[in-house]
Amino acid sequence: MKKINFDLIKIIISFTLFGLSYLMPNNLKLLFLALSYIIISYEIYRKAIKKMKKGQIFDENFLMILATIGAFIINKQEESVIVILLFQIGEYLSDLAVDNSKKKITDLMDLKIDKIHLKKGKSYEDIEIKNIKIGDVFLVKPGEKIALDGKVIAGKSYVDTSYLTGEVIPKVVEKESEVLSGYINTDSLLEICATSIYETTTAQKIINSIEEAATKKAKAEKFITKFAKIYTPIIVWIAIFLTLIPTLIGLDFNTYLYRSLIFLVTSCPCALVISVPLGYFCGIGRMSHEHILVKGSNELDILDQIEIMALDKTGTLTEGVYEVVEIESSKIEKRELIKLLSYAEYYSTHPIAKTVLNLFPEKIDENKISNFKEISGYGVILQYENQRLIVGNDKLMQQENIIYKKEKKEGTVVYIARENEFLGYIVIADKLKNTAINMIKELRHIGIKEIVILSGDQKEAVKTIGEKLHVDYYKAELLPNEKVREVEKLKEKGMVAFVGDGMNDAPVLSTSNLGISMGMSGSDIAIEASSIVIMKEDLTKINEAIKIARMTKKVVKSNIVFALLTKFIILALSLLGYTTIWLAVFADVGVTLLTILNTLKIMIIKIR
Ligand code: ADP
Ligand code: MG
Repeated sequence: MKKINFDLIKIIISFTLFGLSYLMPNNLKLLFLALSYIIISYEIYRKAIKKMKKGQIFDENFLMILATIGAFIINKQEESVIVILLFQIGEYLSDLAVDNSKKKITDLMDLKIDKIHLKKGKSYEDIEIKNIKIGDVFLVKPGEKIALDGKVIAGKSYVDTSYLTGEVIPKVVEKESEVLSGYINTDSLLEICATSIYETTTAQKIINSIEEAATKKAKAEKFITKFAKIYTPIIVWIAIFLTLIPTLIGLDFNTYLYRSLIFLVTSCPCALVISVPLGYFCGIGRMSHEHILVKGSNELDILDQIEIMALDKTGTLTEGVYEVVEIESSKIEKRELIKLLSYAEYYSTHPIAKTVLNLFPEKIDENKISNFKEISGYGVILQYENQRLIVGNDKLMQQENIIYKKEKKEGTVVYIARENEFLGYIVIADKLKNTAINMIKELRHIGIKEIVILSGDQKEAVKTIGEKLHVDYYKAELLPNEKVREVEKLKEKGMVAFVGDGMNDAPVLSTSNLGISMGMSGSDIAIEASSIVIMKEDLTKINEAIKIARMTKKVVKSNIVFALLTKFIILALSLLGYTTIWLAVFADVGVTLLTILNTLKIMIIKIR
């Protein structure tokens, strides 16, 4: 912000000097113009010299310098000053927009305060991560991200390191293993002793990644960078020849220098170089303002092209906590069954766990639980006191060779077994989120061709939701890898976005063309695997995201067309000698300003 205020002061001083120069007698006038020029162009010179040292001479700053020095020499000082002045106003506006976007992103990240399960004696307490000190011991549940670097002191589990290392095969960590913040626990509980503290906030990391994301730059941006690299030197050489050749054959040097200066000013690619990246930045900023986190400009491009939406059911289309509609327990008392279920689900982050724990008001004694393991898409297995508990769906019962009776109920059936003995089941009913129906309607309205549900839940539960929402089709009882297979099939028909929340969605979120996750309730592993995170429990935000992406693309495209078109027309005119330097100034900085103003509308236009 400081720098931005300083820029504004420079603009005002330079502009005042420029205005005053008109009131001055001739010799003083030149002094005022020179001062105005130096104040406003100093920064451009500094940038150009810095680039020259790196061996990159030809860029828009260089063109600008060449043209304005030339204009000074041939007595067009006012024009020279106005070019730089307008250019700096453009840069100022664009800095302002970038700053605004960054602030929006930071605000958004502050919404999600990272909590950590700190070990206190024999139990755990959820505290804010910034209060953790080196040496503190914390617990990481399956599906959660390891928030700080540390050393494992208890537990053995598979961790997913792919977001840091790109290595896709999960790594086993156990006592004494070093772990890094950003690893994701996929399997069992881990107790970790912190060896680092929370310094750089996640928000800062994300902002950095958006800023740097050179590798993730959108196609349009890459094109502009390449374009400027080849284009600028060509322009400089043409300008040199345009002055030299006519002079050598005896024509008037000043006339041709003037023409080539016009040519130089006109051909600055400023409008493109500034407005294209700015467009993406404003798009990302606008998304943040609407509680949508986008991890890069490329993601924004892809979102604009999405044709097919695949949706997860539990936790995505339905609420995070449901109602228990039936409890069936023939061997033990119902109260005892609920107690066992609650102990079993205590460490799980799945919506089922939250629901079950709501039924059990007593305090859980963590010492009674050991060897907790969560199997994505199946359920949980653990040791309770000295008995083995198995809680999950029918697939889990089959896998563990439990003799049970399969129930066909409207809802999700959660079975429980102790050792090899089947104890009973509960049925839970999900509730559709109240924004789900509107989201589907709007998705159709804005032209999404196909909408499907891919769920890990049981057929009956998925059928109810699928029919209520009128999706094209729904598939149930899918394991994580089967979700991937389904999406691969959809990808043959077009660009597919997958929306999910759970641990079982992580693989499919990263293999679809675009992963979207529900940030407030979703598991860390799903959030990491996705490109877009919705930071509000409102599904229609997905429609908003698509609309913002489309608007951004439209603005970027129209800026490119407008800038190139004006440029070519005026270039052609100047080659023929039909332009004045004022027209050239318009073609360059005028167009730049107009494209910037056009871009700023991304921040304010109504999208609902
Ligand atoms: P969806 O893919 O629709 O989000 P889920 O996330 O509910 O489906 O996962 C699929 C199934 O795995 C669930 O319906 C449930 O039967 C089982 N499951 C997963 N985690 C648990 C758990 N912690 N306790 C019991 N069952 C579980
Ligand atoms: Mg889910």
